[in-house]
Amino acid sequence: MLRQSLASGHKRPMLQAPTGFGKTLTAAAVIQMALDKGNRVCFTVPAISLIDQTLDEFRAEGITDIGVIQADHPAVDWMARVQIASVQTLARRALPDTDMVLVDEAHQAFKVIFNWMADRPKLPFVGLSATPWTKGLGKHYDDLIIAATTRDLIARGFLSPFRAFAPSHPDLSGVGTVAGDYDEGQAAEAMDKPQLTADIVTTWLKSGENRPTLCFAVNRAHARSLEDEFRAAGVTTAYIDANTERDDRTKIGRAFATGLVKVVVNVGVLTTGIDWDVRCIILARPTKSEILYTQIIGRGLRTADGKEDCIILDHSDTTQTLGYVTDIKHEKLDAGRMAKGRKAEPKVRAVKLPKECTSCTYLKPAGVHVCPECGFAPARREDVATVDGELFQVQGGKTKDDRATKQRFWSGLLWYCDERGYSEGWASHKFKERFGMWPRSLRAVPATPDVHCRNYVRASQIRYAKGRGKEQKTGGAPDAA
Ligand SMILES: [Zn+2]
Repeated sequence: MLRQSLASGHKRPMLQAPTGFGKTLTAAAVIQMALDKGNRVCFTVPAISLIDQTLDEFRAEGITDIGVIQADHPAVDWMARVQIASVQTLARRALPDTDMVLVDEAHQAFKVIFNWMADRPKLPFVGLSATPWTKGLGKHYDDLIIAATTRDLIARGFLSPFRAFAPSHPDLSGVGTVAGDYDEGQAAEAMDKPQLTADIVTTWLKSGENRPTLCFAVNRAHARSLEDEFRAAGVTTAYIDANTERDDRTKIGRAFATGLVKVVVNVGVLTTGIDWDVRCIILARPTKSEILYTQIIGRGLRTADGKEDCIILDHSDTTQTLGYVTDIKHEKLDAGRMAKGRKAEPKVRAVKLPKECTSCTYLKPAGVHVCPECGFAPARREDVATVDGELFQVQGGKTKDDRATKQRFWSGLLWYCDERGYSEGWASHKFKERFGMWPRSLRAVPATPDVHCRNYVRASQIRYAKGRGKEQKTGGAPDAA
């Protein structure tokens, strides 16, 4: 597919494949193809700490003509036809003369790469990423090649299936948004609560089956609280983050493999090459980012001997707002904002959200009534309307939606007001229609709408278009837009 893309004139194809697809093998094959044609290749990695590992991996694949672009590195060899460089080093040095650039983890928008692309319009750049969904990536890359999806690879046995549970629901109503995701400090504050931490540990003891577990925390302080609580319960833990030295990481990895360490609490170690046999993921770090979420869950989907599945203990409500990772799909690269004066359409996708089993907290796929985990079947309610496979309680029904849900919904509606110029009255009416009350006590902070809000607004537009909505009565003209 990549060869076809390049042959048909694309200069900047993006190759999407999930963690576990065999990215190193694929990259090695692409490099070998280039070398066979007498071409030189530059392979870029997102951190200096990844250079040695990448070098080892390529050597293991039989690529030997490799140099490293990094001052004082023993493998510096400017004559080698394959050069490995970190984007940080590239930023400070002259760019190497090469015939092709492979950009690893290309969803991270590297300025140095974008500038290099702009300077050399004819030089082919191939992006590699499990999650090439960054805003504006389509302005730099010109083709999206989906080599495989997580869903495919699970179905074909190359990735592990998973079972997700939602044991606790944090109150994120006061957490603001920075660059599209939760404000880190505020999210840490919302998550670093004694009761929540205790719940994370007791849930793991009860349902974690003593599995090798990777726990995602918001920041260092939050990670420390979690470690303390696990230790107090007699569970051996370790901590890693992006600054952990490779040797230490290897040591911890070994202890993890032998069961000496059961739970590794981490902050943001997604691209640092954690290649372990993880069978349980604790999500204690809420995120609005499909990229981050997919990368996190990807750490638990590697197959291994004797591994039947991965248990996801989601204490962050992420699965319920973003859906299963297997349902996240983008057919095109994001082209970013449209020309000045025109607003880009908000992305509206009908992701079918899983629903929590009220008996065992298992997150059931949309539309599944009887819990596959515990067999519990909730009583059917008549005041529930089905919209795009998701259940909404309609006006008049007793709502058990908590404050956080209401705040998210309200903030989402305010975002539509900002984006589309709708009045706040429109938002208030939409809110009342959904919850049967006015959003009086909620904070007027716009935030990117979650799937729930987007689906609701979209469904009400469909109702309006069909002429049987209540919008006409309230004069909700914006819905016609
Ligand atoms: Zn259940």
